[in-house]
Amino acid sequence: MANKQIPYKIYLDENEMPKAWYNLRADMKNKPAPLLNPDTLQPMTAEELSGVFCAELARQEVDEDTAYFDIPQEILDFYKMYRPAPLVRAYCLEEKLQTPAKIYYKFEGNNTSGSHKLNSAIAQAYYAKKQGLRGVTTETGAGQWGTALSMACAYLGLDCKVYMVKCSYEQKPFRREVMRTYGASVTPSPSMETQVGRKILAEHPGTTGSLGCAISEAVETAVNTEGYRYVLGSVLNQVMLHQSVIGLEAKAAMDKYGVKPDVIIGCAGGGSNLGGLIAPFMGEKLRGEADYRFIAVEPASCPSLTRGVYAYDYCDTGMVCPLAKMYTLGSGFIPSASHAGGLRYHGMSPILSKLYDDGLMEAVSVKQTEVFEAAERFARVEGILPAPESSHAIKVAMDEALRCKETGEEKTILFGLTGTGYFDMMSYEKFHDGKMSDYIPTDEELAAAVAKLPTI
Ligand SMILES: *Cc1c(COP(=O)(O)O)cnc(C)c1O
Repeated sequence: MANKQIPYKIYLDENEMPKAWYNLRADMKNKPAPLLNPDTLQPMTAEELSGVFCAELARQEVDEDTAYFDIPQEILDFYKMYRPAPLVRAYCLEEKLQTPAKIYYKFEGNNTSGSHKLNSAIAQAYYAKKQGLRGVTTETGAGQWGTALSMACAYLGLDCKVYMVKCSYEQKPFRREVMRTYGASVTPSPSMETQVGRKILAEHPGTTGSLGCAISEAVETAVNTEGYRYVLGSVLNQVMLHQSVIGLEAKAAMDKYGVKPDVIIGCAGGGSNLGGLIAPFMGEKLRGEADYRFIAVEPASCPSLTRGVYAYDYCDTGMVCPLAKMYTLGSGFIPSASHAGGLRYHGMSPILSKLYDDGLMEAVSVKQTEVFEAAERFARVEGILPAPESSHAIKVAMDEALRCKETGEEKTILFGLTGTGYFDMMSYEKFHDGKMSDYIPTDEELAAAVAKLPTI
């Protein structure tokens, strides 16, 4: 099949779509560290986790041996409404950059939520419904996850309660209304509805909230409401598992044309799209069957891999969630108002953290003005208006392609284009008006947040 003319878009047929998710942990010799119970500091069992999460999801969370999980038929049917996602050969971008590199991107923005988050939202809502639950709670920062979850819940007939970081709730009224259109109830966080919200408001009156704080509120409401569980859109092992559909599809599409990427690039907030994209390729690397370079791209304003520490930390501000060993800036770190809302998390997936710590993956951080420059160049030639989060990957893919131009190398680059940026036009406006700044935290600021890490 090699050398066959590669189309601009490679679609799989419906019957070529993955039927099982791939659990990368099964092929990791060095397993990621387990989640710890915040009270006992012992590894969390599936039973303990099922007080907060749906039972099946809790099982997926702790399973580090089963390589493949069959995707239930109902989820496959839902996937078919917006998948397979196209793998695009970026001929126009290559031409524009005059690079010998071959650039591919996996585009996950072809659904109303505008991002890859729907891949896990439908899975999590499905297991909640199957368990006979009434509803789920969650947090949302920029709003993509809340939108995806509200779509999945509407489809399955589940209640959906979203705590939305207050500054986003106010700045992104359209996202909020999309969620309400799908029947979700949306509360600005911190709120007076929960104990932890009231405590945070008493300590920080006028605060516009953070993801860590909204997580605490959502967890509290889930455990105190009959028939409810909490769901999370990134970071967790179960989310990495569901997102493996991105990488499995991308690999199947490339295999179909005999194409092998040399370098695979993705943006990293909590790590779910990157973890999903690289999963089957990293599996081959871990089993010694092939070699690839992997690059995580994070914002310079919230650089958990490149400037954080690898340690146990809280996943939320209220310290009610399990502790995760991960690259973290400290759960008390409040990132500046970076526009890539989906990348403003203090920690990182324990799986990706372990791979990075073992030297199997690289990481770079980029400044947001250069990210928006790349986004605009990309939009003008490839047509898609990218989300600011996704544009971090675009920036580094373009840098790699330009390096190939200097060296004459014909590398094959694959990157994840996680979503569209229609709800981010205020950020684009700032960029166009020259009002965007590049805030980079100082070493002192980072040290202050890391000093407050729990001692374990
Ligand atoms: C949430 C989001 C991200 C970052 O989340 P990960 O879990 O790191 O993948 C990236 N891009 C878009 C469009 C998002 O919505």
